[in-house]
Amino acid sequence: MKIVSTKPGNLRLSHALYGLFFLLLVPACRHVTVHKKRVVVIQPFTDFSPGQAQAVYRQLQLVCPGAILRKPVALPASAYYAPRHRYRADSLIRWLSAFGNADTVLIGLTTKDISTTKNGKADWGIMGLGYLPGHACVVSAFRVSKPKMHSQLYKLAVHELGHTQGLPHCSVKTCFMRDAEGGNPLDEETAFCASCKLFLSNRGWNLK
Ligand SMILES: [Zn+2]
Ligand SMILES: [Zn+2]
Repeated sequence: MKIVSTKPGNLRLSHALYGLFFLLLVPACRHVTVHKKRVVVIQPFTDFSPGQAQAVYRQLQLVCPGAILRKPVALPASAYYAPRHRYRADSLIRWLSAFGNADTVLIGLTTKDISTTKNGKADWGIMGLGYLPGHACVVSAFRVSKPKMHSQLYKLAVHELGHTQGLPHCSVKTCFMRDAEGGNPLDEETAFCASCKLFLSNRGWNLK
């Protein structure tokens, strides 16, 4: 016959230990933030050359495995800003966002000049725009150097992608997160600096 000891004292002690373990465990878990890996979706507009879209896609695929290249779509007329013959980047981002979901980041590609309200100017021409954070961004080939088109489009794409992940502008001159400040410093940019790279890798990205 098996005799089971049910001493009340032991029972209370085991409950107390369990409670202690639980108390230690819960605060530790509260600080863990899980960043869900998002899929990069490249969305060219119909004005963008299919060859260039393929080139951006191939380069991004190396650092964002699983990236998707979608069929081109027409630029929305609602984003057109007639006084400057430009497209409003913020309107394009809003429009693109409807094509994604919580697990995606869309990168719109156009050759048209794009603009936003910046530096006190109602309509400031830009090379790309992405919100901090966001689910869509837009890149324009209009202001990039034509002989360096491939590399400059890639740098712009990862810059805007960085913004969508919450990365602000960076003061390091060679960093992809440098602010263009109305110019085109892309040829001076060589990679993400160590601090921007760490920010991105903490969120599951391996951008180079
Ligand atoms: Zn920027
Ligand atoms: Zn940086």
